[in-house]
Amino acid sequence: EVNLDNLEHNFLCIKSRLRPGTKVLVTVKADAYGHGIVPVSRRLAESGVDYLGVASIDEGIKLRKARIKTPILVLGVVLKSDIDSIFSFALTPTVCDYSLAAALDRKAAILKKKVRLHIKVDTGMGRIGVSRHEALALAARVSRLKSTVIEGIFTHFPFADENRIFTLQQIRSFCRLVDDLKKNGIDIPLVHTANSIGLIDYRDSHFSMVRPG
Ligand SMILES: *Cc1c(COP(=O)(O)O)cnc(C)c1O
Repeated sequence: EVNLDNLEHNFLCIKSRLRPGTKVLVTVKADAYGHGIVPVSRRLAESGVDYLGVASIDEGIKLRKARIKTPILVLGVVLKSDIDSIFSFALTPTVCDYSLAAALDRKAAILKKKVRLHIKVDTGMGRIGVSRHEALALAARVSRLKSTVIEGIFTHFPFADENRIFTLQQIRSFCRLVDDLKKNGIDIPLVHTANSIGLIDYRDSHFSMVRPG
């Protein structure tokens, strides 16, 4: 039995503890961790969630077919063969390399639309992402694409629950990247790193959006 009132209560608790203006993306991958991706996402949308995070294009399509209109970020790797679906189902892609960004930009130009994407950065032993030292150069290149908006930039902390020193290093390294982006005039509204443990245990990890599961 899944109690959606409890889900909403938990979501509102999270919101009430954030600095004003911080947005919330709830990660609903893997069928919302087995709780049912459609009913969970629908209730979160009604409760005012800012973003939903899915692992795959297929999960995003499932939400759109259920008429959920909330922005959806595909956290996993997007392939060039997924580009048509990104546009037809209004999903936000994650990008880790220039060639995918350029392909998305070309398609956006053909459709006379803008593509809003998020850049994933690997700040240490991540599974996917542009490496930390190449991230600024990638963001600068992507920011010059005419039909592209870099809406977000993010990283993931795989060891937030077991290695505090490593996680604090990741946060510091990501902070320096955010400063460098600003100094270079690259303004990215959604900066996000915190999974559930980051959200609870690492206040400096909140940036402008949090990403609990
Ligand atoms: C799964 C996932 C989350 C949420 O993780 P929890 O530990 O369940 O809070 C956040 N971000 C990304 C990229 C994820 O893959």
